[in-house]
Amino acid sequence: MHYRTLGRTGLQISEVSLGTEYLIGKPHAHIGEVIHTALEAGINYFDLFCAEPGFRDAMGAAFAGQRDRVYLAAHLGAAINEDGQYLKTRSLKLCETFFEDFLTRYATDYADVLILHNCDRQNDFDALFRENGPLGLALRLKAEGKARFIGFSGHTVETALQAVESGYIDVLMFPVNLAGNAVPGKKELLKTCQARGVGVVAMKPLGGGKLLQGPRTVRMAHYQMGGEAQQIKKNVPITPVQCLHYTLSQVGVCAAIPGCASVEELRGVLAYEDATDAERDFSEVIADFAQYVPGECVYCNHCLPCPAHIDIGQTLRLFDMAQQDFTPAIHAAYDALPTHASDCTACGACEKRCPFGVPTVARIAEAAAFFRQDSQD
Ligand code: SF4
Ligand code: SF4
Repeated sequence: MHYRTLGRTGLQISEVSLGTEYLIGKPHAHIGEVIHTALEAGINYFDLFCAEPGFRDAMGAAFAGQRDRVYLAAHLGAAINEDGQYLKTRSLKLCETFFEDFLTRYATDYADVLILHNCDRQNDFDALFRENGPLGLALRLKAEGKARFIGFSGHTVETALQAVESGYIDVLMFPVNLAGNAVPGKKELLKTCQARGVGVVAMKPLGGGKLLQGPRTVRMAHYQMGGEAQQIKKNVPITPVQCLHYTLSQVGVCAAIPGCASVEELRGVLAYEDATDAERDFSEVIADFAQYVPGECVYCNHCLPCPAHIDIGQTLRLFDMAQQDFTPAIHAAYDALPTHASDCTACGACEKRCPFGVPTVARIAEAAAFFRQDSQD
């Protein structure tokens, strides 16, 4: 494993680190196996945004006895609601309650990085960066020794740049991947981070796994294109190694945090460390991403909570997979979901929250029609 300096924090973190969102809901033993494999491979930075108590307990158990070997990133503003669903909050009471819960369940006195969670819009930024708001709370927790450094996570250049230029944050968590190669302003944002010593932790390096799907026509955001469907042909398969090399080659990026749902997926990204230059070369695929078109779901569930209790990320993941190859396993996984796309009331709450511009209401309706049709066949 190679290590890089995380900006002005001075922390030496593994260039391949770990996002943990795809471990949510997995059995504790499975989570332990993935974390122990990561530790053995030298991964030492873990992003831990999920506030679900069972998940935190499983993670806390997996890190037992390892606290001095790892850097843990907690999120201020990620909570769960009374139904146990993900909830983004700016309530100081909830922020502090779930942060204290983090310390308890991870059996630690501090988070290495305390990330102001998931901010993409100006009014949210204004609420977040108040001295008597979550920023003020983060500064207090830092003064109390409960957080070593402050970070910020978001998906839009405009708010991320303001966070970086505020001088308050030491770490920026931002999506950096091939699919976002041409995002307007992204390169300038990364250069600003480098100039100011803000360490960049790159999320979604594999585009939620979508970049790894084989040569095919990718359905892109036709809702963003005046109602016309646009399809972009991916000419060649892309590997996790190429994805990581793109991400880790970008200015200012200190580490990538791919989300890995299994030891097998983790080994796929760890292969980066031993890959040859030829295996890392992404020049053949970059031309497919010369134009940025938002709107692809990366299955992150930042659009929850859903009043109909639909697991939106998992529903859209199964729908995308089924459109490629509708196997009995996908059929069974969809049937096993506690609620289905057909339960959607089209309230639109999820669509307002999606940071990736996914037209969720329409996509869920398409999924409902697809799986309904299947059940009639
Ligand atoms: S619709 Fe958006 S927020 Fe919801 S899972 Fe997909 S990318 Fe994430
Ligand atoms: S539009 Fe449908 S999927 Fe989205 S939050 Fe409302 S009920 Fe849930």
